[in-house]
Amino acid sequence: MNNINILPQWFIIIYVILIGLCCGSFLNVVILRGLSGENFIFSRSKCPKCNHQLTWYMNIPLLSYIFLKGKCAFCKEHISIQYPLVELSCAILFYATYAVFGLTLKTLFLWIILALFLAIAATDILKTVIIDTHAYILTVAGILFNTLNLGYTTAINSIIGAIAGFLTMEILAHLGTIFLKHRAFGEGDSLIALGLGAIFGFKILLIILPLSILIQAITSLPILACEEFKNKNLKLFLSYIFVFLSLFIVVFINTCPNFNPKIYILVVIPVCILLLYALKNILDDLKHKKNILEKNENQKESVFKLLPFGPSLIISAILTIFYLDKIKEIILNFIY
Ligand SMILES: [Zn+2]
Repeated sequence: MNNINILPQWFIIIYVILIGLCCGSFLNVVILRGLSGENFIFSRSKCPKCNHQLTWYMNIPLLSYIFLKGKCAFCKEHISIQYPLVELSCAILFYATYAVFGLTLKTLFLWIILALFLAIAATDILKTVIIDTHAYILTVAGILFNTLNLGYTTAINSIIGAIAGFLTMEILAHLGTIFLKHRAFGEGDSLIALGLGAIFGFKILLIILPLSILIQAITSLPILACEEFKNKNLKLFLSYIFVFLSLFIVVFINTCPNFNPKIYILVVIPVCILLLYALKNILDDLKHKKNILEKNENQKESVFKLLPFGPSLIISAILTIFYLDKIKEIILNFIY
């Protein structure tokens, strides 16, 4: 630790951001090859559109996307905005973790956990799929995190939390079948709850789950509104949500006396990026499905099936990592 303290602060910050960007770049590969089932360690990266192998300077996080103006150098097809978004989110979250928890073993574990969060949210946003392996690695990381006394609970409670988290989501999902005639949540969401239970223990999971349902409700509103009003009043609804979110943030800041606005902004930016990215994908998906469904009926059911719950769980968990005390405070203020 002493050796690190000799280094100037700016050097460490740049180093942390670079690690975040590189991890984000690696995550993009993990996400896409996880979805396509390819082996990601032994094959070189290539353009997903034209399969042309990429040279090293086309693989620089963030910069390559900017210099190539978002287009493949060979086929000139658009490169998915997913690449720079994941890289940027990862860098910002890594920096926020370092700023709050310093250069510690806890930070290293949180980096691994946050990277897995991003991968899980991204696969869910892209294909409404959760890769089992990502969730299992998250669970093992969570148990190890608490076994080393770096986390939120004891090792035993971590294991209990994982099982209880999984079972709670399964029960909720099956209860959903009574009202929606299909599972309220996908099997993947139970796997995320398994991982979150291992990281936070069951007590904190009982805060994360309702918070994620609130986040899900906020994200779903424009989609449901869009369905109800056939796009006409979407703008109006979006502005309502914007006002609601702004009020929510103002209340949030005011209820927290020892609040760090810098870190708040750093955490909220990637969370908003994830939200907006999810929203864009869902709306695109909805348009696409609507075209197909215009021929055959049964629209209502599909609207609910379109909303992945994973990103809301992940966003809720990210907020909990940085704001557990504040969230507890707000809940207590709300109750009393
Ligand atoms: Zn290409």
